Amino acid sequence: MPTNYTELEKHPGNRADAADPRWVIRRPITSLHQRRSPLSNPQEQRVLLDQVNLAHLPQDGNFAHRLGATGFETLQPRGIEIFQMNLGKLCNMTCRHCHVDAGPDRTQENMSRETIEACLAVLDQTQAHTVDLTGGAPELNPHFRYLVDQCVHVS
Ligand code: SF4
Repeated sequence: MPTNYTELEKHPGNRADAADPRWVIRRPITSLHQRRSPLSNPQEQRVLLDQVNLAHLPQDGNFAHRLGATGFETLQPRGIEIFQMNLGKLCNMTCRHCHVDAGPDRTQENMSRETIEACLAVLDQTQAHTVDLTGGAPELNPHFRYLVDQCVHVS
């Protein structure tokens, strides 16, 4: 049974149609963190991922071995072209597939003005031509407009 959505609620007005999926709605969901799900813990996620059997994949799914098999012994860093900033986990949605477990309840994990200033200082030291803002919903960060203005000003 999936754990990242609540029980289904049947339409109260027509019990004859209760089994009809058109009459089934889902209650709003909250983040895994809010529900104290073990899956909100990255270490717990690692434990689960380590249990996935990759033996059917080339090189048993080992990334380094697969890389070597394609002729690349190592990956070499190049210049920074895209400067990505994750502004936090606050979001007005709670998607089941969200890989950062964002949601309306994640108000604490929101980048501070101080950290934004530090990021802008680092950005100044790169040749990045693009700033990629992500979250959560980055536009919900109270410093979003300031950050965008500064990024445009820098470029
Ligand atoms: S960050 Fe994206 S995927 Fe995650 S809950 Fe918000 S809209 Fe959904």
